[in-house]
Amino acid sequence: MNRPQPHGPIRLRGHELYSEGAAFGPPSLDARGGRTYWGRTNPLGGTGGVGRGVCSCGSASPVLDSGTKRKQWHREHKAEIRREQAAGTGG
Ligand SMILES: [Zn+2]
Repeated sequence: MNRPQPHGPIRLRGHELYSEGAAFGPPSLDARGGRTYWGRTNPLGGTGGVGRGVCSCGSASPVLDSGTKRKQWHREHKAEIRREQAAGTGG
């Protein structure tokens, strides 16, 4: 059997932290497509500032005051996804 085995930090498909943890928000909803658009709150383009981290899956962190905290949130978010995947193998 060829089972994928996680080795250390892995990238989860579909779960990328936007712009390395840059601050986003508030979200605006596009009325036509029903999509959520996140605007960056830091015009300087760094990862600092107050705002939400956004994952490419659509999840967003609480409002946090640093890129480091947003990266931490994303690590926990991915760990949560991995736990769900591990638990969801059927019975
Ligand atoms: Zn995600």
